[in-house]
Amino acid sequence: MEDNKFSGVNSITFHQRFKTEEDCLEYLSLMKWEKGFTCKKCKNTTCCSGKKSFNKRCTKCGYDESPTAGTMFDKVKFSILIAFHIVFKIATKKKGMSSLELSNEFELRQKTCWEFKWKLQQAMASSLSYPINETVHVDEFWIGESEKSKPGRSPGKKKQVAIILEIVDGGVGRAYADVIENASAKELGRVLKKHVSKETKIITDKWRGYTPLKKHFKNLEQVQSNDGKNFKDIHIHIMNIKGWLRGIHHHCSKERLQGYLDEYHYRYNRRGHMEVIFNLLLKRMVDNEPKRL
Ligand SMILES: [Zn+2]
Repeated sequence: MEDNKFSGVNSITFHQRFKTEEDCLEYLSLMKWEKGFTCKKCKNTTCCSGKKSFNKRCTKCGYDESPTAGTMFDKVKFSILIAFHIVFKIATKKKGMSSLELSNEFELRQKTCWEFKWKLQQAMASSLSYPINETVHVDEFWIGESEKSKPGRSPGKKKQVAIILEIVDGGVGRAYADVIENASAKELGRVLKKHVSKETKIITDKWRGYTPLKKHFKNLEQVQSNDGKNFKDIHIHIMNIKGWLRGIHHHCSKERLQGYLDEYHYRYNRRGHMEVIFNLLLKRMVDNEPKRL
């Protein structure tokens, strides 16, 4: 697999590489059984070819497994070739593609695209394997209409999001955003514990929700926001998320909003690794089963 991995963002190269259903099934099969075969039913590790090409059949119990079984490509309502092309577009286009755009480009029902995108967004959620260690800025913002009708941090119809931005030498590193119930210490603490390690230097504004978190995060420092001037990078980041969401997102559930935030940050956090972004996303789709809505 190592030598055959697809890399890059060039769509002509991609079209040449994945021309048929077989090209994609072969690729999935190599990726799925990269580390060898283990039968899903009886854990036996020897196999022979199955009924269809690229299937594997357990030599002990006879279970015949397709490359898509137990992956996010299982029971997809269109061809694997189209699915590959959608994954490529979503991974490599700077702003991704909305379900409406996908529906037009691939001549599929919008609902079908929406369902497949929901799986993709699940695959794009942070693995939580690499918490940020150095320095972060943290803030919250609202998503939804009439931003000015509810001042401050009081709950309303809109949804609130906590945002963590890694600050590195000469700029910004990774970022994560999570939907929160409210801006309480409990909720902000939950999100911080998810994405940053205990020793991280955390800089927030003076909001009281952050103060109790100093017990857990010894390097949490609260500074005057100075009308946002001290948190310039995070405010630019928030504006960019809002601008992107405005184009595609209308009154979606809390879960769906989290999906969009995950999608945005999957691409954002790999902006310096575009050559491997398609393959990484495909791998996540092969290694994980979709959750139901
Ligand atoms: Zn078996």
